[in-house]
Amino acid sequence: MKTSIITIALLSSIVNAAFSQSTEKVKNIILMIGDGMGNAQVSAAYTINQGILNLERSQYIGLFRTSSADEYVTDSGAGGTALATGQKTNNKFIAMTPDSISLKTILELAEENGLSTGMVVTCEMTHATPASFIAHQPSRYDTLNIAADYVGSGIDIFIGGGRRHFEERTDSLNISDLLREEGYSIVYDLESVKEDSATNIGCFIADNHPLSVMEGRGDYLTEATRIALDKLKTNAQGFFIMVEGSQIDWGGHSNNFSFQISETIDFDKAVGEAMNFADEHPGTLVVVTADHETGGLALVDGDISNGQVEAKYSSDNHTAVMVPVFAYGTGAEIFSGIYENTELFHKMLRLYDFK
Ligand code: MG
Ligand code: ZN
Repeated sequence: MKTSIITIALLSSIVNAAFSQSTEKVKNIILMIGDGMGNAQVSAAYTINQGILNLERSQYIGLFRTSSADEYVTDSGAGGTALATGQKTNNKFIAMTPDSISLKTILELAEENGLSTGMVVTCEMTHATPASFIAHQPSRYDTLNIAADYVGSGIDIFIGGGRRHFEERTDSLNISDLLREEGYSIVYDLESVKEDSATNIGCFIADNHPLSVMEGRGDYLTEATRIALDKLKTNAQGFFIMVEGSQIDWGGHSNNFSFQISETIDFDKAVGEAMNFADEHPGTLVVVTADHETGGLALVDGDISNGQVEAKYSSDNHTAVMVPVFAYGTGAEIFSGIYENTELFHKMLRLYDFK
């Protein structure tokens, strides 16, 4: 009898230790989404970079399934919604159930719990992925209402394209002015963000989508990520930021391998920036993943020593293959395994441990 009590006590202390380790509280989460970035895109970036990739610094790797509520192959609306809200919805929906009921997003939950929040993207701020974290609309194409949903969101910093949807609208509203009334500083270049001390900042670097890397976007994504992290870190409560390599997807849709992989490599640079931040700021988690793969990319020949790859696309759309999850920093260990895309949200929430 005595022995078994000791055994039980010992067992429970082991269980407790394991539990407390796996639920270590996270202060900051940097969620990075490579839209359309599957394993083939990552492998191609590795090869073209001749064996150097920040993603390989990841400490724990997982895979998740991406199907939406109504389709085997997801779109970026349902894919983004799954990551942002922990719920499957139909394709084209933005943070809403198929019955058009709003779903609370991780960004909104972070706001409600006193954290700072941000988004940095290489597309228009109204595009499906960023929209899934801040807007609630039955159609991803309703850019008027998606832009309007930024009002009252409380987001502390956003940087991306799409000024036209905020300021040159078919209704009488000027969303930038409405945001200014809420105390936002709305600016139009990265330099101004750096110099601005306002608590809430919105930055439109383009009227439409920002340029691609091949068209000369330069180091924008890494630099904007660095600037945003620098602002967000001042909140002692912590922060949530979503950073998207939005155009990896577009290279896949157009079966343009150079386009898709230059965007993947660019995204990987921003990943390195985020990982460096995590090194310097304990309590920070970096999670890098995708909403789905785009292009059905296959690598059929190549040479790592000279960075050559022969690639073939099997689709001009998204595919249903599982996508990778790369985790780094505090709490990274809970992201290993194979799960549904919706689980990512629940894992992040568990680490934040909001009261
Ligand atoms: Mg996207
Ligand atoms: Zn797409």
